[in-house]
Amino acid sequence: MKVIKAEEMGFCIGVKRAFSMVENVRANYQGRKLYVYGDLAHNQSVMDRVASYGFDTVYHASDVEPGSVVLVRAHGISDSERKELEARGSEIIDATCPLVLKNQDLMRSSELDVILFGIKGHSETVAVEGAARRKYYVVQDVSDLAEVPNDRKYRVIVQTTFETRRYEMLLEELDRRGILYIVSNSICMASERRRASIRAMKGLVPYIYVIGDPRSANSNALVKEAFDNGIGSSLVESADDIRVEDIRGYETIGVSAGSSTPDDVIDKAVRRLEEI
Ligand code: SF4
Repeated sequence: MKVIKAEEMGFCIGVKRAFSMVENVRANYQGRKLYVYGDLAHNQSVMDRVASYGFDTVYHASDVEPGSVVLVRAHGISDSERKELEARGSEIIDATCPLVLKNQDLMRSSELDVILFGIKGHSETVAVEGAARRKYYVVQDVSDLAEVPNDRKYRVIVQTTFETRRYEMLLEELDRRGILYIVSNSICMASERRRASIRAMKGLVPYIYVIGDPRSANSNALVKEAFDNGIGSSLVESADDIRVEDIRGYETIGVSAGSSTPDDVIDKAVRRLEEI
């Protein structure tokens, strides 16, 4: 089978940076108790590798042994979690993506109440919420705007992997409702370029496999992008999940991958498809 690879896919610069920090910590802190706070990235093979390097993944500061080394995930942590880690004498190695740090700074320093466009419960959204000093509203869909009073001006902050179309639609809706705002658009171009690479395959392939973890918001967004452009698509974690019956009759298949999927996992999936 002929495989066309998306022009841009796989590890983004933020995840690459976090992963190389894991390797540095592993090399430089031998003999110390090592943790990653939260999932380093939403990808099981990345998590497995991190575990094989001797890191425990924790989700609560209270689970960290005092005096240990804690690497903060790319999606960041809330201010209160950071304070609790410091109180336990942890040495914090911060792998939070700089774009997420920027959103946290905006949240922390905002002199206006905030509307945060973001996926509710996503670790990055939670980390940005955790920097709030003012009242804020998390808006994922138009229905969430029902909670937002239009009697004041807001700062709009945007989750880095938020879909551009949804962002534009929500801004239009704020205008329609007469809600005043100033906007700081921090949508990460890494995610946008991956979606553009999916659109570029329109007419070239009937089906795109997106290699990524089911928990990865940006991997799921790539599948949606394919569907929105009339291309069949499914999300698979690895080569083992590729089902011949899904693609029977096709001569050419597209492959893309979320920004937390390692290159070797992508390469294996491509080889498997080429062998079919
Ligand atoms: S997708 Fe963008 S914002 Fe998110 S970790 Fe990667 S580079 Fe950073």
